[in-house]
Amino acid sequence: MANICVCARFRPAILKEDGEALCIARSDSRSFTLEDEKDEQHMFSFDKVFYEDSEQADVYEFLARPIVRDAVEAINGTIITYGQTGAGKTYTMEGANIMETDNHKKGMLPRVVDELFEAINSCGETAAYKINLSVVEIYMEKVRDLLDLSKDNIQIKEHKGHGIMLCGVTEILISNVEEALKFLSSGIANRAVGETQMNNTSSRSHCIYIFTVQKEMAKDKRVSTGKLVLVDLAGSEKAEKTGAEGRVLEEAKTINKSLSALGNVINALTSGKANHIPFRDSKLTRILQDALTALLCCCSPGLCHFSESLSTLRFGARAKHIKASSRIGWKEEMHEKKQEILLSENDVKLKVLD
Ligand code: ADP
Ligand code: MG
Repeated sequence: MANICVCARFRPAILKEDGEALCIARSDSRSFTLEDEKDEQHMFSFDKVFYEDSEQADVYEFLARPIVRDAVEAINGTIITYGQTGAGKTYTMEGANIMETDNHKKGMLPRVVDELFEAINSCGETAAYKINLSVVEIYMEKVRDLLDLSKDNIQIKEHKGHGIMLCGVTEILISNVEEALKFLSSGIANRAVGETQMNNTSSRSHCIYIFTVQKEMAKDKRVSTGKLVLVDLAGSEKAEKTGAEGRVLEEAKTINKSLSALGNVINALTSGKANHIPFRDSKLTRILQDALTALLCCCSPGLCHFSESLSTLRFGARAKHIKASSRIGWKEEMHEKKQEILLSENDVKLKVLD
């Protein structure tokens, strides 16, 4: 099994950072050195490094495209953006905004949607597809449905055949790109936002986009399902650095708790001797239990962010040793209707291909 794909991305200096010293010395497209003012140097190598001049399209092509293609073939995949607030996670995921059409600014999510519908449309009469979209966030260790805010504490269950399931979550059947963007946009508008000194529109939640791609073969009605999960994590900075107090400080601590649970899962997965992987320690790690496929470590290029960048990149360096745990979606040789009935009565007939 392949290792998970881990990449690093440095966003360009933003306006208020103009003229600030930088902390990266490029080696090549996979390695670089992070340097602080005392010339402390840390070498990093990843599957790919996207420097300040990288294009949104490059990131999509390398990191996401193969995983989107896999989802169409019923292989689950997860793409995560990690890094401190202001490092470019949301810009990578959503683009300048979700409706952006300028190719330089268009993010990963709208490209995913384009590719999914392109794949569907190119398969002709051989198969029928259904794509469902859910958008949730984990805020203060509760899963909130961003497509129906009345569902503010979604429970997570593990199904023998389907893997991790969000009970009662809104799943919108999307039939074209425009519809998908409309629902993504309303989900995003419902995210919980708090103000910190680091970024006054910073989101303090982990935002999770789930595309379920169901394919039914015309020939034999065989149904297979692939789940594609994109995760825009909340900022990984230390709680005290946010200058937060009261409720906002509590938020920051909770965020750090779920991110450290993710760190613990990564440590357990890479230690080689762990017989217990602590997926159950947080909502975030439970949702990621199905598949851990790609991680993008987002960093600011500025020297003043050296220590946060170092910790982000160290996190990525550890994750590089994980074997990708993407699992083949469930398959069953019968019509979907029958399958639903069977599923609700018992799931003995389901066959999971590992
Ligand atoms: P995060 O989600 O990690 O907190 P954002 O994605 O909101 O960070 O990025 C912080 C700021 O930097 C935003 O104003 C965003 O538009 C800008 N930015 C981030 N990445 C890039 C990039 N690759 N190119 C241009 N601007 C970017
Ligand atoms: Mg963000």
